[in-house]
Amino acid sequence: EADSANLLPLLEKQWGTARLDHLRQIGRIAQQLGTPAYLVGGAVRDLFLKRYAPDLDVAVEGDTRMLAEACKAQIHGAHYQFHAQFGTAILEDSQGVALDLAQCRLEHYPAPAALPEVHPGNIHADLARRDFTVNAMAIRLDPQHFGILLDPYDGQADLQAGLLRTLHSRSFLDDPTRILRGLRFATRFQMDLAPECHQQLKQALQADIFTQLSGARLWRELRYLLELEALPVALSLLTAWKLWFLLRPTPPASNTMPTLLQRGQEQIQWLSAQFPEEPLAIFIPMLTLIWQDVTLRDIQHYLDRWPVPDRSQLLADLRVLPGLPDTLLKAKRPSQKANIWQGVSVAGILAAMAIYADNPTLVDSARLYLQVQRRLPSPFNGQELQTLGLKAGPSLGKTLKLLREAQLDGEISNKENAQQWLIKQGILPPNPL
Ligand code: ATP
Repeated sequence: EADSANLLPLLEKQWGTARLDHLRQIGRIAQQLGTPAYLVGGAVRDLFLKRYAPDLDVAVEGDTRMLAEACKAQIHGAHYQFHAQFGTAILEDSQGVALDLAQCRLEHYPAPAALPEVHPGNIHADLARRDFTVNAMAIRLDPQHFGILLDPYDGQADLQAGLLRTLHSRSFLDDPTRILRGLRFATRFQMDLAPECHQQLKQALQADIFTQLSGARLWRELRYLLELEALPVALSLLTAWKLWFLLRPTPPASNTMPTLLQRGQEQIQWLSAQFPEEPLAIFIPMLTLIWQDVTLRDIQHYLDRWPVPDRSQLLADLRVLPGLPDTLLKAKRPSQKANIWQGVSVAGILAAMAIYADNPTLVDSARLYLQVQRRLPSPFNGQELQTLGLKAGPSLGKTLKLLREAQLDGEISNKENAQQWLIKQGILPPNPL
């Protein structure tokens, strides 16, 4: 029977002893407290997929803080943070490897797409609230049964068959974020929805379930989707599952979108290799690309619903993008080109490089701006200009801008010729010689 499979050999092979020893200690301490603990969720699934699970989730039939406290007292070097709001604890071992402790819970959905009412429950209730059978398996951690699999919904068989199956027919109505979670899992693990779940999906869409989901929750899921490495692959699922409406009014007209997004990803990788310390939200350039042929009015409609950061810059980028090749062509001087790029966000520039990949002049100009022009140190800062005799105020800002442009155009390169240049422009009085 699937339920009694002992996974010890597999666990040892996949994870090695350090991780297992830590789990054993937690299981033993939980047992002493009379609140059994189980390994749950993605880590169990990933074990069967032979993928290394970075995050471990432990479900406890009882108080997580009490267990965390006992672990701190008994495990050398262990410490924890308790999050009262969620009743969860993050337990760290002496090496700083973290693990999540959450209390087993029973969930009840008072209304479709609403947040559930939560009560303490046992491991079976905790597995019953989960999204897919492949995510509803647990491994016992108590010393007598360490490594025994609990698989009440036969997730192992679904995993082998590559099927994502909900635990009951109302699952997507209870929580439509599961649809997008499913899309991510299907993409990452090359799985498909089980036949009856395709039917459930259809019913959920007929019920317009996503309109009942808060914009913040929807956006959170969409962001995860946009950040998928396999996003270009996920697009065919968006079509097959009829979910494009979540991102655009109509599916993309041509089938160039996967290539476009892949190019975008390549540009993002290029930039992070150039500037590893520069933070960049991957989802913004991806969204820019997905929206590059959508009307601003339609885009506004989406943006009104989601808490997207920097939305006015995103809209500004989308406004500039179509005319960019022409605008750049008209700009003759390097400073004029740089000024155009300066009005576009870094995300927008990366999107432009993907859209106009067959325009080497544009791509080179974008690279030059990102690599050199935007970071060029000015020969003088505002304070130095003041010591040279210029007054503070708007005119100082204007002078700084002129200096920057002269520098971009190769007219000046150091303090000395910058000072001469300022004299020539009549901004500084001539040298008293
Ligand atoms: P990964 O971390 O690799 O993306 P994961 O399965 O660990 O995969 P999490 O988002 O960390 O994903 O969720 C942990 C577990 O919590 C899942 O395996 C699933 O059992 C459960 N879960 C998460 N979100 C939901 C949801 N909306 N409905 C039901 N169960 C959920």
